[in-house]
Amino acid sequence: MNKRVESVQISGIRRFYEKVQQVEGAISLTIGQPDFNVPIDIKRAMIKAIEENKTDYTSNAGIEPLREEISNYLKEFNINYDKEEICITVGGSEGLYIILSALINAGDKILIPSPAYPAYESISSILGADIINYSLNDDFTLNIEELKEKVKQGDIKYLLLSFPSNPTGAILSKNQRDDLIELIKENDIIVITDEMYSAIIFDEYYSVAQSTDIRDKVIYVSGFSKIFSMTGLRIGYFACNKDLMKQLIKVHQYAVSCAPSIVQWGALEGLKKSLGDVKKMRDTFEVRKNYCINRLNSMSIDVIDPKGAFYIFPSIKKFNMSSEEFCIRLLKEGKLACVPGTAFGKKGEGYMRISYCYSEEMLSQAFDRLENFIKTLGILK
Ligand code: PLP
Repeated sequence: MNKRVESVQISGIRRFYEKVQQVEGAISLTIGQPDFNVPIDIKRAMIKAIEENKTDYTSNAGIEPLREEISNYLKEFNINYDKEEICITVGGSEGLYIILSALINAGDKILIPSPAYPAYESISSILGADIINYSLNDDFTLNIEELKEKVKQGDIKYLLLSFPSNPTGAILSKNQRDDLIELIKENDIIVITDEMYSAIIFDEYYSVAQSTDIRDKVIYVSGFSKIFSMTGLRIGYFACNKDLMKQLIKVHQYAVSCAPSIVQWGALEGLKKSLGDVKKMRDTFEVRKNYCINRLNSMSIDVIDPKGAFYIFPSIKKFNMSSEEFCIRLLKEGKLACVPGTAFGKKGEGYMRISYCYSEEMLSQAFDRLENFIKTLGILK
C-alpha cells in the first residue's frame, strides 16, 4: 500500500454524514447539495443526447461547443480563456486532482488555507507535497500579510485559493485581489483558484483569474455541481494557459479519458438556457442565509455573515467543548447534525459548518432544535 494513502483520513464531512444515519429522527444540515432539481432544459438535453446516441468518448478536453460556451460565460466575469485553454472534467474534484498531480513533485511546498475544503490537503498529502497552512482574517477573508510572511520563508511553489469558501462563505474583495496579484507578480508561484461556488455570491465578484498580468501563473477550477444542482452527474472544468494545459491534459487523459458525454451536452444547454434558474437559486439562498444569520444572532452565537456559497461557519467557542464534542452532543441530544469545524482543518476548531441547502421549513425546525439544545447547556436563557 502507498504509505501516504494509508495515512490520509476519509473526509470528516462524510464521516459525520454516516453518523447521522444512525440517529433516528435527526435533521441533517451537513451536505453541500443544493435542494433544487436539475433545471428542466438540462434534463431534456441529456435525454436528447441519449436518444441521439451521443454516448461515445468525446475528445479528452471535452466537446468543443461546451468549451466555447464556458469561454463566453467566463468572459462575463472578465475572465478570459479561449476554448483550447479549457478542459472538461469529472466534477471539480477531478480537476483538483489532475492539477495537483500534474504539478507536484514530492517535497514541493504548497500553501493551503485553513479552514478549507478538505480535499486540498488530502490530495497534496497523497502526492507527497510539503503542506504549509495559512490562516485567514477573523472574518475568514484573505490575510495578505500572513501570506506575504509565508511566501517570504521561501521555496513556495503553489498557492491554493478558495473563494467563495467552503466552509466559511468568505469571498475575495477588490483590494485583496489586487494585493494578491502584486504578490504573485513578484514571486514564482502557480496559483490554483477553486471557484466552485462563483455563481452563488451575494456581493461583488473578484478573482485573481481576472488579471492579465499573472495569467500564466493561474489555474482556474470550477464546475457545474453546485450551479446546476447536479452533484451526482459529475462534471466540472479547469482553465489555464496552453503550455500548462499541454501537461495537465495528459494526466486527465490517463485518468478518465473524458467527462461523461451526455452530461457535457446537458451542461452546454444549461449555460445557454438555465442561468435564470441559477439566479433564482442564488436569491433563494440569500433569503435562507439571512434567516440563518438572524436565528444565530438571536441565540447570541458569534457568526460572520457569509458573502457566498451556501454555508455558515458560526463560532461555538463559548460552549467550552471541542467542535467534535459539540457536534456529537448536538446530534445525540438535540437531533441535529452539523459538521464539526475540524473536518476542515486545525483552524476549524471552535466552529461548526451549517449548510443551508434545505427548505425554509426544515431550517426553521433545525434552528429550533439548536436553540433548545443550547438552552440545555445553560448559556441561553
Ligand atoms: N471545491 C469545493 C470548494 C467544493 O466545496 C467541492 C464540493 O463540495 C468541490 C470542489 C468538488 O466539486 P465536485 O462535486 O464538482 O467534484
